[in-house]
Amino acid sequence: MAGQVKGNHNLDFDSQEVKTTIRGLKDIDIELAFLALLTCEGVKPSSRWEKPLDDHGLGLLQRLGLLTKQIRRTVKTGRVVTETIFSMSPAYIQLYEKRFDDTPIDKSPPTQRFEGFLFGFPPCCVDEYIRHAYTKNSLPPEQQKILFHWACKDCKITPILLPDYLRIHAYVEKC
Ligand SMILES: [Zn+2]
Repeated sequence: MAGQVKGNHNLDFDSQEVKTTIRGLKDIDIELAFLALLTCEGVKPSSRWEKPLDDHGLGLLQRLGLLTKQIRRTVKTGRVVTETIFSMSPAYIQLYEKRFDDTPIDKSPPTQRFEGFLFGFPPCCVDEYIRHAYTKNSLPPEQQKILFHWACKDCKITPILLPDYLRIHAYVEKC
């Protein structure tokens, strides 16, 4: 976890090119811009975008240095959906592709644990979520709202991650 906590600081947040790219991602969806930066900074080792993304959107992610891969999944009705996975590291892309490409979407505990590992969710939070989703925690709602995992009660890891989430969220908002 140590590498994730400190963040990689890969990007120059003051650079015009980075700002322009983030604005382009915000035009698609502000959450996509936020996920992209969290992943660039190593707060999340990889992220998944579950809505369609065209070449323009993929290009914006790549301009930030992210590797991208589109993954085919199926839902219960048999309909095919395309997910986009992105990371600074090819290993995470490969892990995701190997496990999930051309597979049905499932929410089983082993899948949730594996996804938690890929997406940088604290294991304590994932385990509690599997046992009982959305157990009341002590985070202020405005902090819980910007996380992509539900913090467990008295979480020891989430408070260490939060400063990076808050810093990056504030940057994306005013970008
Ligand atoms: Zn936790």
